[in-house]
Amino acid sequence: MSTTSVINPATEKEVASVELLDVDATDEAIMRAVVAQQHWARVAPADKARLMRRFAEAVDGDRENLAQIEVMNSGHPITQARWESAHVRDVLSYYSAAPERMFGQQIPVSGGLDVTFHEPLGVVGIITPWNFPMTIAAWGFAPALAAGNAVLLKPAEWTPLTSIRLGELAREAGLPEGLFQVLPGRGSVVGERFVTHPAVRKVVFTGSTAVGKQIMAGCAAQVKRVTLELGGKSANIIFADADLEKAAASAPSGVFENAGQDCCARSRILVERSVYDRFMELLEPAVAAVRVGDPANEATEMGPLVSKKHFDSVSEYVSDDSLVAFRGATPAGPGYWFAPTVLTPRSRTDRTVTDEIFGPVVTVLPFDGEADAVQLANDTTYGLSGSIWTRDVGRALRVSRAVDAGNLSVNSHSSVRYSTPFGGFKQSGLGRELGPDAPLSFTETKNVFIAVD
Ligand code: NAD
Repeated sequence: MSTTSVINPATEKEVASVELLDVDATDEAIMRAVVAQQHWARVAPADKARLMRRFAEAVDGDRENLAQIEVMNSGHPITQARWESAHVRDVLSYYSAAPERMFGQQIPVSGGLDVTFHEPLGVVGIITPWNFPMTIAAWGFAPALAAGNAVLLKPAEWTPLTSIRLGELAREAGLPEGLFQVLPGRGSVVGERFVTHPAVRKVVFTGSTAVGKQIMAGCAAQVKRVTLELGGKSANIIFADADLEKAAASAPSGVFENAGQDCCARSRILVERSVYDRFMELLEPAVAAVRVGDPANEATEMGPLVSKKHFDSVSEYVSDDSLVAFRGATPAGPGYWFAPTVLTPRSRTDRTVTDEIFGPVVTVLPFDGEADAVQLANDTTYGLSGSIWTRDVGRALRVSRAVDAGNLSVNSHSSVRYSTPFGGFKQSGLGRELGPDAPLSFTETKNVFIAVD
């Protein structure tokens, strides 16, 4: 086994050293999960529900600790990290109702009784990215466990600490040995083994579109089930009739939250030409007001980028000849700080408009009328989220239906609620997470006919 050094991105100091599993250790974990799942599938629904509620309570009791770990490991502002740990608790509570509600159907047929069952898949492998380590993990493990599966969770190399803590909390809450295991390791080792090992029956992957495509291709060899949550380049469309003050005041949080390291970031602001200048006047003070700094400080709104490597990748998009409209401030000293940056690119095909930068960089482009807005919003390989600002209800609905994206919000930037489905169109993903139906995506439907004669 090798180890990896976990760095605090706000201080550049090592905060932990974590052992990375090799293929043999991964295989052993998979076999423990197979045994644990066979037992779990037979546990009474009410008992499964009780154990999931206990897991939720254990997370609730550890909320502040989990939040502090995320501040130290990922540089998330503490207020944001507190929301995240509470969200993990809520996702577990929500799906703790599922084991007793995995209803099948009774279908009228002649000669007997026909019923359907939702059978668990078996062992599910979850591979998570570094941007929202604990919340994205919970979107997979909570419904998968509720549906009767065992779960193996491989966190991203840079941000394993909250996932490791959740694994401990699951055991403290009484989840059976082997049922939920956290396996820190490299994507090319542990993640890849989830794809190739026949006992892993589904892979839930959140990360880049490039790796998602490899995983989908690998899973095809075994017709393995797969859910993909991938990249995004979402549009924030502002029509001339919108409440411009509100749209401008909220645009920074729509893209700069988590320093723009958010798959739902509204990283393309599209503004109707007649109000473009006014909107930019209003946007400038809103960007200047974003409080960038020490993530442990309660007043901080934006922390650092997650790593030096990622800082370098984001920096490539802002050069001396970039058309920078305005930028926010960053603290001096150590840390991977990147100022909120607003670009006004020369063309609609500039790479700052087409690439997912995954940092606090937003492009602003003018458009002419509703059809042009929709065409521009859809001119991307992605389709994850987006916002529409208008006071015209008919237009809000027309544009919501016309934009090819899985999660849209009107006159707001809301995107993730555990009780509503989440996922992408086009190359932003495959399948949906969250919402009432999520446990079903961790099952196979079985049809049974019982003859009456
Ligand atoms: P990444 O694809 O580099 O890594 C994601 C995970 O995959 C990591 O755990 C990594 O170790 C693992 N991995 C890497 N190579 C692998 C392989 N060959 N086989 C199996 N696993 C492998 O992505 P990232 O840089 O960690 O995350 C950023 C990306 O995630 C962005 O593109 C972002 O948009 C996307 N994202 C999407 C959503 C969503 O819900 N749609 C949410 C968050 C992040």
